[in-house]
Amino acid sequence: MDFALSALQQEWQDKAAAFAKEHLNDDILERDARAEFWREGWRRAAKFGAAGLPVPKEYGGQGLGLPETIATMEGLGYGSQDSGLIFAMNATLWTNTIPILLYGTEAQKKKWLPGLCDGTYIGANGASEPGAGSDIFSMTAPAVRDGDGWVINGEKTWITAGPVADVYVCYAVTDPTKSVLGISAFIIPRDAPGLRVVRTIPKMGVKTVPMGEIALENCRVGADALLGREGRGAEVFNCSMEWERGAILAATLGTMRRQLDRCCEYARSRKQFGQQISKFQAVSHRIARMKIRLDSCRPLVYRIGWLKAQGKDATTESAIAKYHVSESFVENSLDAVRVFGARGFVCENLVEKDLRDSIGSLIYSGTNEIQLNLVAKSLRLP
Ligand SMILES: Cc1cc2nc3c(=O)[nH]c(=O)nc-3n(C[C@H](O)[C@H](O)[C@H](O)COP(=O)(O)OP(=O)(O)OC[C@H]3O[C@@H](n4cnc5c(N)ncnc54)[C@H](O)[C@@H]3O)c2cc1C
Repeated sequence: MDFALSALQQEWQDKAAAFAKEHLNDDILERDARAEFWREGWRRAAKFGAAGLPVPKEYGGQGLGLPETIATMEGLGYGSQDSGLIFAMNATLWTNTIPILLYGTEAQKKKWLPGLCDGTYIGANGASEPGAGSDIFSMTAPAVRDGDGWVINGEKTWITAGPVADVYVCYAVTDPTKSVLGISAFIIPRDAPGLRVVRTIPKMGVKTVPMGEIALENCRVGADALLGREGRGAEVFNCSMEWERGAILAATLGTMRRQLDRCCEYARSRKQFGQQISKFQAVSHRIARMKIRLDSCRPLVYRIGWLKAQGKDATTESAIAKYHVSESFVENSLDAVRVFGARGFVCENLVEKDLRDSIGSLIYSGTNEIQLNLVAKSLRLP
């Protein structure tokens, strides 16, 4: 594994950072305070190519590999402070675009991928239910055959971008006697009869993407809604999670790098007791620990790109990356607040926002306890 970015990766990372800095930060303080989603920002990011980075050009994407996609996401996270927007873009990519690319029929790919890549569609993931969180395959939403199509019922919750999405990849039970092999995946358009956004759920972080709950009430979809084979929904879900856990935190690497730069800059300029606070070892060591955490996170994320580019399984490595990056992100975000003192605690400097944004990463894509379970399983520990 080469630790240096290739010329292509560096080029995409640099242009993503420059683009995001200039075009993806408009009114971020106000939009975060209002918990407002920014569709124009979504379009801009999609126009740049962010929504379809690893999608072949024939379906409207950029045709990049996962290593280049990760490098670009890191650039976006460095340049933009709109982590809600970038989180939503990642959620769409890993839970809609990639599963459709890998499991969709040719007709499904042609129908959905160009719009997902050019920003026409926002995608969302309907897996969690009020009674099925970590134990996701205990879901109960039933999908019953109806002629050529399906009728789906149930409640899906905690959905990133749920209130603003145009399409949902949802999971439902097509055969309750078969446990995990009785779950199937469906592509459900927002305007499918019987799909209703029940509510937007207020939350502590990544506020610029709304979280929602949807109800499926005799929701009718055609045969072409089934994604992958009937009874193979768990496979689609696990595949989507493997990619998501591994890569969704690539943008976080950029955020952590930006935090570090800001802390260094601030510690050099802020004076107390007649000297720069960076001269106090308590401060410089805190920042040094931030750097050590960041540098230990980067190879773990880039390893996922390297493994997937070679067609290898990355289930355990994704769990390791997800665990370590999210835990490090929370610690670095708290350290940044401490370095900035009161200036870190108030909203106007966008330091505390990273701390609020970081907490969700301990929970989404499977809580970190579930990641530890996956790592323990790989060690054949019961
Ligand atoms: C910001 C954010 C975005 C999200 N986006 C989506 C989305 O787009 N679509 C979607 O479907 N879901 C989404 N989720 C939901 C997320 O996937 C679930 O919250 C997560 O899987 C945990 O489920 P739960 O919240 O029900 O917690 P629970 O499963 O009830 O867990 C509660 C606690 O028990 C622990 N626990 C549970 N089981 C075990 C075990 N076996 N071993 C050890 N500890 C255990 C957990 O780690 C946790 O600490 C999102 C969540 C967040 C925070």
